[in-house]
Amino acid sequence: MIAHADRIAALALISGLGCAATTSEVATRGPAEPVITRPQGPPVERREEPPPTPPPADDEVRITFVAPSGRTEVLTWRHRSRSVGSPTRGSLRDACCLPESGPGFVTTSENRCATDETIRLLLYAIGEVMREFPSSPPVVIGALSRPQGGRLKPHKSHRSGRDVDIGYFAAGDRPLRTFANLRADEIDFDKTFYLMAALIATGRVDFLFVNYKLQPRFIEAARRLGYDDEQIAYLFQYPKGRKSRTGLIRHARGHLRHFHVRFACPRGDDECVPD
Ligand SMILES: [Zn+2]
Repeated sequence: MIAHADRIAALALISGLGCAATTSEVATRGPAEPVITRPQGPPVERREEPPPTPPPADDEVRITFVAPSGRTEVLTWRHRSRSVGSPTRGSLRDACCLPESGPGFVTTSENRCATDETIRLLLYAIGEVMREFPSSPPVVIGALSRPQGGRLKPHKSHRSGRDVDIGYFAAGDRPLRTFANLRADEIDFDKTFYLMAALIATGRVDFLFVNYKLQPRFIEAARRLGYDDEQIAYLFQYPKGRKSRTGLIRHARGHLRHFHVRFACPRGDDECVPD
């Protein structure tokens, strides 16, 4: 099966990067975390999450969560990078960088560095999409951060290794090489939302920035995937207005050709500032 092969290749890539590496999909070390169980979809109870715990002494991080597929996933990686300061003022130390392309993705930017956690979770989510949509062309990844972080024009954020721009998938499995000017009816909302859902399910995402105009279409996709009203109200800013400070999926200007993921501060990065 192509999708399975892609996933294995994605995992091999992670090991090959020399950062965000895993010894195996099931960790043998590190403290266990409680499994967050829910039928599918977003972790609606995240807001009551206990305070972050420091990473294990051997720098292995392990998270357990239920993916949109319904499977319980255990992800592990080495936590060696440091996100310092805020996404709009901070910097990055000991970054992990994506290659120009890999299984399930192509990139458009030379700025492909981030925290170990960002890279690990991004590649995990791409692998999930490739498994669910085996005939999909690669996703287009835009800017992450510079190797040492800091200012990255023309972006306001992207400075501390926690931001990633990701192109919307085109309908009909049309391959893209760049962020394309897609009309709303040319966007594959189901596949793109699946990618968003895989990212969110990790419990390590603070925000996704999506133009308000497109949010109703993503809500429809969420309903098709089985999300209920409560989950949708937790996830989406729509219909409360584009200035409302609700929802994990928020409006930001632009974001008609791509969405932006803001990952949470990695646990143990004491100098990381959420926003
Ligand atoms: Zn961005």
